[in-house]
Amino acid sequence: MKLDADAAYVHITSNKTIQGVQFPSEPQTGDVPLVCDSSSDLLCRPVPVDKYGIIYACAQKNAGPSGVTIVIIRDDLIERGADDLPTMLSYKKLAAGKSLVNTPPTFAIYMLKLVTEWIMREFGGLDKMHQHNRKKAGLLYDAVEQSGGFYQVHASRGCRSLMNVVFRLPQAELEGKFLDGAAERGLVSLGGHRSVGGCRASIYNAMPIEGVEKLAQFMAEFSRANG
Ligand SMILES: *Cc1c(COP(=O)(O)O)cnc(C)c1O
Repeated sequence: MKLDADAAYVHITSNKTIQGVQFPSEPQTGDVPLVCDSSSDLLCRPVPVDKYGIIYACAQKNAGPSGVTIVIIRDDLIERGADDLPTMLSYKKLAAGKSLVNTPPTFAIYMLKLVTEWIMREFGGLDKMHQHNRKKAGLLYDAVEQSGGFYQVHASRGCRSLMNVVFRLPQAELEGKFLDGAAERGLVSLGGHRSVGGCRASIYNAMPIEGVEKLAQFMAEFSRANG
């Protein structure tokens, strides 16, 4: 990337659900603050928080129900906020009010607490969560590799997402047949986003490995029968 050393900030989206791409590590931005939309992968792996100026994420992919947004922001960036911003746009006012300037979405926040406790109880922390997610995604990327070119992954190897495995079949007609066959086995919501087509397996933290194993098995069966 060619970055402007005088930029106010650099913004990235750590995981993109439509194309199934994810930053494997942080880009070097020198003194320019790195700002990240981590909505679709926060809590999937440990994050070196000190490399970021701001991390923000809506909850509804990995962390809990919709309605709450998590923001991790450097103190000096809070201070730099303009004083004339409306309250809902001002991290400075939100931080000064301890995120309680209005009644917050209490149910969503409570659920977020339960989800983080679940991660600690089931996995023991984000290192283990990461291992688990690599194993899950690996099952699907392996199913693609072992299909002898029947399935094609949208993302290039260095940036394949752990959360969204986006792939194509050789012909569009086969995709319909694949989605129908999968649905018969209880494997649903595998259609790709309308802008890229194909298939997409979203395997967020809450998807158990058994569901991924079942899909990998179906992918192998389907490619043998139709390849
Ligand atoms: C899901 C998602 C959002 C938020 O989606 P809304 O439906 O608009 O709340 C924002 N950024 C990323 C990267 C996402 O994956």
